[in-house]
Amino acid sequence: MSNKEVLLQIKQLKTYFPVKRKSIREQRKVVKAVDDITVEIYRGETLGIVGESGSGKSTFGRTILKLIEPTDGEILYKGHPIQNLKGKALQQFRNQMQMVFQDPYASLNPRMKIRTILEEPMSLQLDLTKEQRKEKVKELLNKVGLSEDAMHKYPHEFSGGQRQRIGIARALAVNPEFIIADEPVSALDVSVQSQVLNLMKDLQDEFQLTYLFISHDLSVVKHISDRVAVLYLGRVVEIGTKKELYEQPLHPYTQALLSAIPVVNFDVPREATSLQGELPSPMDPPVGCVFHTRCPFVMEKCGKSRPTLEQMNPKQQVACFLYGKNTENSDL
Ligand code: ADP
Ligand code: MG
Repeated sequence: MSNKEVLLQIKQLKTYFPVKRKSIREQRKVVKAVDDITVEIYRGETLGIVGESGSGKSTFGRTILKLIEPTDGEILYKGHPIQNLKGKALQQFRNQMQMVFQDPYASLNPRMKIRTILEEPMSLQLDLTKEQRKEKVKELLNKVGLSEDAMHKYPHEFSGGQRQRIGIARALAVNPEFIIADEPVSALDVSVQSQVLNLMKDLQDEFQLTYLFISHDLSVVKHISDRVAVLYLGRVVEIGTKKELYEQPLHPYTQALLSAIPVVNFDVPREATSLQGELPSPMDPPVGCVFHTRCPFVMEKCGKSRPTLEQMNPKQQVACFLYGKNTENSDL
């Protein structure tokens, strides 16, 4: 991957949320939603982000889009820090990055016709005449597999899958190069999911898009990703190319997530390493390795120091003391 162009470089990113105190005497607490994430996103790839609900996936995406200010760390877009973007430069950045949301109904204004929904971002951001905008609406609807007369209808007249196609068309309306899709098919019937995923893949090829694809569902992420990062309590515990990560998961958490996917072939029994217990609170994450309280392979040092993400082979990085390279890290 090193010969590929880095589109986004995320360095030691932290996004903490202050928690309201119940009384003045109570200690000030924060939710560590994203806690020290370093990752690069290459142009043209799909980086999948998986993890249980509450692991910080959405906060990570929203921080990259500059919808939330990070507490610490840096985000470089094509080598430039996004932190100080203002005015026109911020507007340009916003045009190049778009988001597709989980619930296409909630994110589409029910009182607007599809034409207006698709024209709105264009009128704000592109210098087009009325006629050009209308042409572009038709073109977008064609690209996402809907007929042109969809533009005269309202969101409620469409099925969930069709509405997500409209959500995707809206994201494409400003010619972005980077799209964050946050659980884009999680609200859809399984039969429709792969159609929308295939559409996203086709559009990626056609428009050379880069995707950050967020889902709690490992099989969905597998369908579309080139690389996958596994998040646990705001941290990347493992990251690797899809094939390696799914065929030879290294982190016990990745192994547990994968063993929880229903196996279609019941003749092949699978080692049950399903997760024990609840996800700890991100307000009070475990000291040491964040996963140690639920890890079937926990060792003494796991509760004392935190393993760092180490390159285990050319295609996988893991943060786990089971693997030799991990030196103890006193920085808890
Ligand atoms: P995921 O998308 O993986 O389910 P989120 O990023 O939504 O995770 O949330 C990560 C953690 O941050 C959760 O504990 C959540 O409750 C908390 N959180 C998210 N947004 C906020 C917010 N605006 N204020 C306070 N806490 C938040
Ligand atoms: Mg989320």
